[in-house]
Amino acid sequence: MSGNFLALAQPGVQQLSPYVPGKPVDELARELDLDPASIVKLASNENPLGASPKALAAIRDELAELTRYPDGNGFALKSLLAERCGVELNQVTLGNGSNDILELVARAYLAPGLNAVFSEHAFAVYPIATQAVGADAHVVPAKAWGHDLPAMLAAIDANTRVVFIANPNNPTGTWFDAQALDDFLQDVPEHVLVVLDEAYIEYAEGSDLPDGLDFLAAYPNLLVSRTFSKAYGLASLRVGYGLSTAVVADVLNRVRQPFNVNSFALAAACAALQDEQYLAESRRLNEAGMQQLEAGFRELGLDWIPSKGNFICVDLGRVAAPVFQGLLREGVIVRPVANYGMPNHLRVTVGLAAENSRFLEALRKVLARG
Ligand SMILES: *Cc1c(COP(=O)(O)O)cnc(C)c1O
Repeated sequence: MSGNFLALAQPGVQQLSPYVPGKPVDELARELDLDPASIVKLASNENPLGASPKALAAIRDELAELTRYPDGNGFALKSLLAERCGVELNQVTLGNGSNDILELVARAYLAPGLNAVFSEHAFAVYPIATQAVGADAHVVPAKAWGHDLPAMLAAIDANTRVVFIANPNNPTGTWFDAQALDDFLQDVPEHVLVVLDEAYIEYAEGSDLPDGLDFLAAYPNLLVSRTFSKAYGLASLRVGYGLSTAVVADVLNRVRQPFNVNSFALAAACAALQDEQYLAESRRLNEAGMQQLEAGFRELGLDWIPSKGNFICVDLGRVAAPVFQGLLREGVIVRPVANYGMPNHLRVTVGLAAENSRFLEALRKVLARG
């Protein structure tokens, strides 16, 4: 007799919908017999600039050590981050992408009978990480597409151990200010770990977006997660980090894979962190591209959700799936967000000026077909 290995899976896992990534360029090229070089991908919030030359050089240097395990403690990168962020070394947790940090939190603090609170339209990894460990998800209705922090507070109960909030949020791009964050943190019960996901924080410098690090000292139940995948342009290497109290970092370290961040990722992240020119150029490009996309939407008579990330959700005023398919046939990959409860929107990553133009032109064409 053979077992039903779906029914035998942990109940949370049985109900879990796997993460749906942006469509890879090579896949579309195969399907439509297109030259991959002709395809524009604005689907995964990747940095259109290409990697920092300093990061590339660091990777080449690291090749000589290919047979060695990486530094399991990530000393060099942690030291740099601790200095940058004004924390102690033992407050830094490195992750295989910041996705890893989110999962470490879930594994360490959630279990069947416990729950995590997060918003409607929040990042898809929150429900996955929560369900994967058999915990319940308390999904709080969004307000104007963004996090309704007072409602999220109200959703916390005695079994809540984690709140996931993203600022700005992906896919909506919405954000809250420092006052709202402080009000929220003041009222969150002490037994609840607040994961403030700042995957796009580097794009928002100088705006009214709060810096989570400013709140770490006052709130021992706060963990700030960040990544090298977006503004630092290292998505393929998978490296992110969490900043928290040393106690929380110690707990996460207990459930971490011994070598969760590879040598190339460690070396490249150190180099990228010190390449201020690259970061400034990423920001400049993003600001210009965001304006270009907004102007394009305005011209097409389309609405959008204002965003502080490197992406923007455009409202097509009708079901977006056929438009997404039409764009694919034009060789343009964007991201449908129906699985985020947003069937009329498409999320578009800010690309290079020429990529944004290609997208806007393709969108005009597809919409004109009706
Ligand atoms: C992209 C993203 C992440 C993490 O990406 P990693 O590549 O795993 O670091 C985390 N949170 C949000 C909201 C994101 O959009």
